[in-house]
Amino acid sequence: MLRGPRLRRPLQALVVLAVAVVATACTSSRTTPSSTLAEPLPSLTTASYASPTLERIAERGRLRVGVKFDVPLFGYQDPVTKDLSGFDIEIARGIAAELFPDDPQSQRRIDFVEALSRNRENLLITDSVDLIVSTYTINDARKQLVDFAGPYYIAGQDILARKTDVDSGKIRGVSDVNGLRICSVTGSTSLANLRAAAPGADTSITKDKYSECFEALRRRQVDAMTTDDVILLGLAQNFPEFAIAGNPFRTEPYGIGVRKGDAAMRDRINEILQNMFENGQWAEAFRKTVGTTGALVPIHPELEID
Ligand code: GLU
Repeated sequence: MLRGPRLRRPLQALVVLAVAVVATACTSSRTTPSSTLAEPLPSLTTASYASPTLERIAERGRLRVGVKFDVPLFGYQDPVTKDLSGFDIEIARGIAAELFPDDPQSQRRIDFVEALSRNRENLLITDSVDLIVSTYTINDARKQLVDFAGPYYIAGQDILARKTDVDSGKIRGVSDVNGLRICSVTGSTSLANLRAAAPGADTSITKDKYSECFEALRRRQVDAMTTDDVILLGLAQNFPEFAIAGNPFRTEPYGIGVRKGDAAMRDRINEILQNMFENGQWAEAFRKTVGTTGALVPIHPELEID
């Protein structure tokens, strides 16, 4: 089972990042003239935002968020109670709490919409949601269609296979999957990354959802599946016959998708993320979701501000 050690590589990268951040912070505090410290900081709650999306959220009194429904630990809907849980759900709730500060029940103001990997851009473009918080990797191709706040988490892409194949050394990582049948999801970076890294892999079986790939793996229709390590961790957490190779081959920074051109919306979400990093809510959200597997709370990534 994937535990702390299996998440070591992405976490190491974050530690390096954190050291750099601390170093920068130390440098700037040393060089900041004391007079600027006395200047009042802009208030987060009174700042005005020229965002059409934020205006409509305020008018509607509700926030519409696209999330995964079948990814335990990130976005998962209980089939019986219909309750949603996971790190992405907690991030969305944190955002709602800041957007509706006067409502102690702010999380009831969220309408969650299922966001498949392949329809995330479309949900924003067609104004079906206000935000996408759905294990959504920030990349240049997607930036042509949507804008991103974040990153708020850095995942690593890995392989999930039968434990016997991992333990025997048959599948140690992506370099071992040429010639094998590997499932991934349409519209994901996971599928594109796999095809680039292992051109000899048979990727003829693709699915709309990661739970469907896992089902195909369980039925032996494929030899392995690939996506972000934290998604694999959630899917396989109660299935000891499967194991993650533990050799992440791509870094996947998760962002929050907003409508392209609504810079004020992106800035507001970044501000909320930064608050959640600093006030402990982000770490708490991780601890109560992904952390339940034994994974240690990482150091938060640095926001990409351009
Ligand atoms: N993070 C990757 C992506 O955005 C894989 C996970 C997913 O499909 O949601 O494509």
